[in-house]
Amino acid sequence: GRNFFVGGNWKMNGSLAQVKSLVAQLNNTVIPSGTEVVISPPAIYIDRVRQELKPEIGVAAQNSYTKASGAFTGEISPEQLKDLGIDWVILGHSERREYFNESDEFVGEKTAHALAAGVSVIACIGEKLEERETDKTTEVVTRQLKGIADKINDWTNVVVAYEPVWAIGTGKVATPDQAQEVHATLRKWLADNVSESVAESTRIIYGGSVNGSNAAELAKKEDIDGFLVGGACLKPEFSNIIAARL
Ligand code: 13P
Repeated sequence: GRNFFVGGNWKMNGSLAQVKSLVAQLNNTVIPSGTEVVISPPAIYIDRVRQELKPEIGVAAQNSYTKASGAFTGEISPEQLKDLGIDWVILGHSERREYFNESDEFVGEKTAHALAAGVSVIACIGEKLEERETDKTTEVVTRQLKGIADKINDWTNVVVAYEPVWAIGTGKVATPDQAQEVHATLRKWLADNVSESVAESTRIIYGGSVNGSNAAELAKKEDIDGFLVGGACLKPEFSNIIAARL
């Protein structure tokens, strides 16, 4: 079976004091065998977190660019992440798509470049409320997934994060059935358009108002292989989410 995957996306939150207390908490958290945990602090704290966090917990950047180096003010390359022992990056988060105009194609290019540099990718997709209400969920999420599939061949180091935009930061978590339905659609799309083995082995995780109380029910679903957690990853309840599949 697929290993369980729990990501913690800090977004643009945290301070030096909070970095110290969150790292101390995580270093005291037992990581169940068969569960992979990766946290994603803002870029400015990433090196410190990597140095102070126990090695069994991974660290992800929240973005990376399509070039190794050069005149691209403000950007960070996957090669630079690798240089500091950062093995993961979150790409295509809905906040980047929405506020920084990232297209499906650009997210695909960034994914391809990160993988080529040896950085694993948490690739985010998800529909907006209006799209769900007009029955466009499947069309939107498969279009976003295709943006990635068009640019890569090897899915070994990709985790797909399904994050419906209407569930992010709203307290309106998708029901286990709602999430399972989309995850199954995505897995079927991978089987039909990439391969059966990629569909079988790729982790598809859910994000959007996951917390210590709703994680266990979601984790029971066949095609939900873990979570990408925002708000709750900054709280002690993150340890309950890490333990959700037990
Ligand atoms: P919340 O858990 O705060 O809803 O955020 C989810 C998310 O966007 C993780 O990337």
